Amino acid sequence: MVRVRFAPSPTGHLHIGGARTALFNWLFARHNNGNFILRIEDTDRSRSTEEYIESIIEALKWLGLDWDEGPFRQTDRMEIYQKIAYKLLEEGKAYRCYCSPQELEERRQRALKEGKTPRYDRRCRSLTEVLDKPFAIRFKMPFEGETYVDDLVKGRVIFKNSEIEDLVILRSDGTPTYNFCVVVDDFDMKITHVIRGEDHLNNTPKQIHIYHALGMELPAFAHIPMILGADKSRLSKRHGATAVLSYRDEGYLPEALVNYLVRLGWSYGDQEIFTREELIKYFSLENVGKANAVFNPEKLLWLNSEYIKLTDEAMLFEKVKPFLIKEGYLKENESVDISWACKAIKSLKERCRTLQELAHAMRYYLLDYVDIDLKAKAKYINSDSIPILKEVTEKLASLDEFTQPNIEKIFMDMVNKKNLKLGQVAQPVRVVITGSTVSPGIYEVLEILGKEKAIKRLRRVIDVS
Ligand code: GLU
Repeated sequence: MVRVRFAPSPTGHLHIGGARTALFNWLFARHNNGNFILRIEDTDRSRSTEEYIESIIEALKWLGLDWDEGPFRQTDRMEIYQKIAYKLLEEGKAYRCYCSPQELEERRQRALKEGKTPRYDRRCRSLTEVLDKPFAIRFKMPFEGETYVDDLVKGRVIFKNSEIEDLVILRSDGTPTYNFCVVVDDFDMKITHVIRGEDHLNNTPKQIHIYHALGMELPAFAHIPMILGADKSRLSKRHGATAVLSYRDEGYLPEALVNYLVRLGWSYGDQEIFTREELIKYFSLENVGKANAVFNPEKLLWLNSEYIKLTDEAMLFEKVKPFLIKEGYLKENESVDISWACKAIKSLKERCRTLQELAHAMRYYLLDYVDIDLKAKAKYINSDSIPILKEVTEKLASLDEFTQPNIEKIFMDMVNKKNLKLGQVAQPVRVVITGSTVSPGIYEVLEILGKEKAIKRLRRVIDVS
């Protein structure tokens, strides 16, 4: 039975890289009918917060990555780690280290100055007596030999044991450290595959030694490539939004983000758009590449627009509602005729890349009046166009059935009788009605907006001109 875990440290919001790791674990579990476990690695109490835990959980839920067990919290398991650390101490596989943080820092600085890699010099490893001083527990790494990591993505990676330091497993304040807890937990939680970012690859040989010392069987390891920004440096805030929830707030659909994330390091032929069922069916670690992936916000935006096109109008209305309310285009409990809303969305969804853009466009269907873009106003609302606007407005006002064909007929009659270009009639109307020079077909917009609002909006501009 496959069992995988996502183990975030709640020292920040869930970001693109973490979400991709969670997704790969989730897909691997679902593909193999296994279990996906959520574990919060919060032993670093000074940097972990409840707020980040909640925010990570909210982001995972939004992405639709549901877990079968957890969330477990490492801070609930402190006694377990302490007990095992002492067991290693008793068995002579670990030792008391009395070096104070200041001493260690001084030695570190000295090593750096001398151009050496700072590493604990193992001076307490040979102590035989027990001192009456605070101590940390350090793990005894082997002095020589090599450690192989047979990684499912990277293949065999070889580490020299002489380069691995005797790491602290339990600090002098009794708190355990990451490399130690992760082994204890992965074993206790019966994790079969550890799938995580390549930035953890250097930790793996350390963890392997701890597994051996505890007589525990190793899980399989899969280290997935890093995500870089366009400049090929590690993805960070400099490259734009990296928090998953900011994509939600900007109007991205979770399915689009999931689809985008999966392609950061994984591929299936040339296919770009996948349903969730397809992802579960096709996902495998064999198709995770070795090369680092580059985060491309433009492609994410493109995928989002594709997903908006694929989503049916009623569903999109539900999704866009919070944005409409936030912008003040819709009141909290205002009832909207759903078939009307669907028509409005249908006219717009091909041209909007995010829910935010869709909400913004919908303002001209929902509000009584819209602000007109100043440039558009200067160009299209002037002494030449006002008489045309007046005439078209009065004709529209006299229509009984305010439908696209009838509206079109009015425009075409004016164009033909006065020898005008269609743009001379349509553009001023469009600018008044939508506030800008680009919109769906103006006849369609007018029909959806409805006669009353359309005439009011046109007359208001005519009256002040
Ligand atoms: N807590 C670690 C992190 O957030 C993950 C550890 C792991 O997956 O082994 O980077």
